[in-house]
Amino acid sequence: MSIQIVLATANPDKMIEIEEILRANLSNEVELIARPSEIPDVEETGETLYENALLKADAICAATKLICVSDDTGLFVEALDGAPGVYSARYAGEDARYEDNVAKLLRALDGEANRRAQFRTVAVAKFPDGRELACVGEVDGTIALAPAGTDGFGYDPVFVPDEGGGRSFAELSLAEKHEISHRGRALRGLSSMMTRALTG
Ligand code: IMP
Repeated sequence: MSIQIVLATANPDKMIEIEEILRANLSNEVELIARPSEIPDVEETGETLYENALLKADAICAATKLICVSDDTGLFVEALDGAPGVYSARYAGEDARYEDNVAKLLRALDGEANRRAQFRTVAVAKFPDGRELACVGEVDGTIALAPAGTDGFGYDPVFVPDEGGGRSFAELSLAEKHEISHRGRALRGLSSMMTRALTG
């Protein structure tokens, strides 16, 4: 019997990563479905990653009557009191491009010695029967002085994970990134919880 799971994200870069990680960690009986295009964007009005992830999962689960997996991610920079944090997508403005956000971040840290930062993801699964599962994934690192690498998306060219041998996320292969990333950790944890919920 195949179990359908709808993915909440409307971001194609995140979609690639989420599909790859879930595919590697969930049973072959699970069919992953992209969020139907007729479902309108869910506004991220929450004050925490968890609230935003749940808002998306709730709305899409209600609209599709399918299990929905959503995630919300933020980059928390120590010297900026945790900014851009929950507002990482909109750091340089409502319609900011990845490059605008990266440029603003590098300006904000200009001359700053403390470049410690953490990526954090909260992944949520919402079931049509009301059950809800959530898992957090984190990765610590530093913000580079300048972008490096061409892979990945978002802040990847300036985030140097502690476990990446000095390379930025954009210089790692996708498999290497998944192994240590916030999203990889959150979704692997969520996959185990979902497997138990689906087979228990
Ligand atoms: P979202 O709210 O989960 O879509 O993520 C907010 C923003 O954080 C995105 O628009 C990206 O700029 C950034 N972001 C999320 N995940 C990653 C990642 O894995 N690498 C780099 N940037 C990311």
